[in-house]
Amino acid sequence: GLGEWQRALRAQFPIITTHPELAYLDSAATAQKPQAVLDAVHTYLTTTNANAGRGTYPWANRTTTLVEQARDRVKRFLDDPAPERSAVHFTSGTTEGLRSVARDWLPDLLADGDEIVVPVADHEANIAPWLEAQRYLAGQGVHIRVRPMPYQRASGDYDHIALAELAGGRTRFVAATHVHHVYGGDMNIHRIRRVVGPDAVICLDAAQSIGHLPVSVADLDVDFVVFSGHKAMALPGTGAVWARQARGPKFTPGGWSGTPNTVGIASLTAALDWLDAAGTDRIERWTVALAARLTDGLRHLDAYEILGCQTSLAADSSVQRRQGIVTFRHHAIDSSDLGFILFSHGFMVRCDQHCQGGAGERTGSVRVSLHIHNTVEEIDRLLAVLATLG
Ligand code: PMP
Repeated sequence: GLGEWQRALRAQFPIITTHPELAYLDSAATAQKPQAVLDAVHTYLTTTNANAGRGTYPWANRTTTLVEQARDRVKRFLDDPAPERSAVHFTSGTTEGLRSVARDWLPDLLADGDEIVVPVADHEANIAPWLEAQRYLAGQGVHIRVRPMPYQRASGDYDHIALAELAGGRTRFVAATHVHHVYGGDMNIHRIRRVVGPDAVICLDAAQSIGHLPVSVADLDVDFVVFSGHKAMALPGTGAVWARQARGPKFTPGGWSGTPNTVGIASLTAALDWLDAAGTDRIERWTVALAARLTDGLRHLDAYEILGCQTSLAADSSVQRRQGIVTFRHHAIDSSDLGFILFSHGFMVRCDQHCQGGAGERTGSVRVSLHIHNTVEEIDRLLAVLATLG
């Protein structure tokens, strides 16, 4: 069953198994690495390490091939239906990836008077680059309008009614997040596409979905997917932008503009291999069930307020499903203090404001974010500690 499968996968994380007294509940900040990724790093550095796209000796050739194959690996991971037309650009993470879409690609798309939609309660990394692009374009005499996309707390999703009202014929671009890093909602991207129509460009911040659930660009019908490798079990300093249409210097496949993070890219390939073998559908089932157990438990504790979607499972299809992120606050204990108390019991969580943009929460909170190594026992132990603080 799912439990046995999970135990076998948990055993593959050395940092987890060597610290049984600790519970890592901060995978949304960065994910722990399975042995297969550690092995790939070691193997690459002890057998192959060289620069890419330059030398002609075997290590250099193998490194060039590794980077090119990693692009194909990303495309396959994203269920890309037309890999001959798309491009993958490696970055240091989602922040750099979104900035690169805004800087290298967005200006070509927009004309004076066009509108872009920006989600104002999302991660700062998915807000600042679009506002910077607006300022940059204004300097060139191209004035674009930024329409803030509101978030609806009750459903755990973007406010699609508000989006339908604010989107119009000049809406050329929508920056959307796949899974919200504070509220945990799995955003309804199909509905955004239906509202803005087939010609608008949708850029997906997939920082919290890659590795947690199946992400199919064929199904989602998006134009860009941006993610962090380190949140998908690869090394820090890794990430990628997938672009449906290769264009511009940055998005030209095989273009070598500098030394890529070769060992990071090797780790990303290994991580995507591992995640595909584990099965992102099963990872999703596991973490969604744990998150539901935690929200159900928290709802019985009067001292806590859960942020975002109040329904744990998508029994009601009008409500977005909560992925493996549960954020809450205590009515009297400050979130940093609560984080400190929780660590005294071995729980590693995220506190405070979570880099949320201007329209985000005003008060700090504690975020529990899950991955495949987390267990039912960890959730029950956490709930027991939280209950003593009620
Ligand atoms: N977007 C979202 C939704 C995130 O959760 C994060 C990381 N917390 C980022 C962007 C930024 O990712 P990185 O720090 O890897 O650039």
